[in-house]
Amino acid sequence: MDALVIHAPLDLRIEDVPTPEPGEHQLLVRVRAGGICGSDLHYFNHGGFGTVRIREPMVLGHEVSGVVERTGQNVTDMAAGIRVAISPSRPCGLCRYCQQGLQNHCLDMRYYGSAMRTPHVQGAFRQEIVVDRSQAHVVADTLSDAEAAMAEPLSVALHAVRRAGPMLGKNVLVTGCGPIGALIVAAARRAGAAKIVATDVSSFPLEAAKKVGADVALNVAESPDALQPFAADKGSFDVLFEASGNAAALRGAFDVLKPRGIVVQVGLGGEISLPINVIVAKEFDLRGAFRFHEEFAVAVELLNKGLIDVKPLITGIFHYKESLRAFQTAGDRSQSMKVLMTFE
Ligand code: ZN
Repeated sequence: MDALVIHAPLDLRIEDVPTPEPGEHQLLVRVRAGGICGSDLHYFNHGGFGTVRIREPMVLGHEVSGVVERTGQNVTDMAAGIRVAISPSRPCGLCRYCQQGLQNHCLDMRYYGSAMRTPHVQGAFRQEIVVDRSQAHVVADTLSDAEAAMAEPLSVALHAVRRAGPMLGKNVLVTGCGPIGALIVAAARRAGAAKIVATDVSSFPLEAAKKVGADVALNVAESPDALQPFAADKGSFDVLFEASGNAAALRGAFDVLKPRGIVVQVGLGGEISLPINVIVAKEFDLRGAFRFHEEFAVAVELLNKGLIDVKPLITGIFHYKESLRAFQTAGDRSQSMKVLMTFE
């Protein structure tokens, strides 16, 4: 079978790799759709991000769905032909954090397509993949393969919303409306947010954010002072989801966040200097949100029931043999939200 292997920046190759055999509690899944994530783009364009670098060839990809091809001998509740979304989160289950239910902090995590550890964990942009039964979540007939693959980024958004605490009746600001920011908009809306304002520096993602539930979408490149009206009376927002990783977005939001406001930082960034006086005086809570675990099952359930619609965020689907075009398109924010590939 074929797999998409990154060797160096802009050096993504289709390579023939062997099909593994499923173990007794595993499934062999024929991969049908795979979404290109920001981290895949970083590996593709720059060979990594921060201190995480490709040190050996690695199959990319961690947002995939497919159809069960064969089951291990001890799997009794799955059968060939069942469509599944695959969670790329593979915690050890044994370490102290797994035991506390904090699987995203697992000391021995093997997340697909990640160069955080060496040897790297090979990814899911391949025609067939062996997964643990527990990673596979049955997908409703009403969902396309591409929508099913969106369960992964939706899980990231659900985890971020959960980190913020109760959403009911809250005024929410989302800065950065790429796929994760837009999915946070959708998740916050589903969770009961009263008003959602979204900002970005590009108009295309703002239109997408509106389609999935933003009440107001502001282009802060065209109108740098667009948030100013929300600064009255010490601020208007209860919660900020910062999904751009941009220093100006984070610092700008401090003026419009109410006292005791909650900042959930989702976007990865380098080092940013912050006005500590403001954090102290307005008593902000500054929280991170990283990956997910149990939220994957919730994401699939919300998608299966039609309670969150990710279709407006799917802007391109390419065959894997056109992967270069797919990656180039995915990196163009003026025309792309989520770009996926098919693997059949
Ligand atoms: Zn663990």
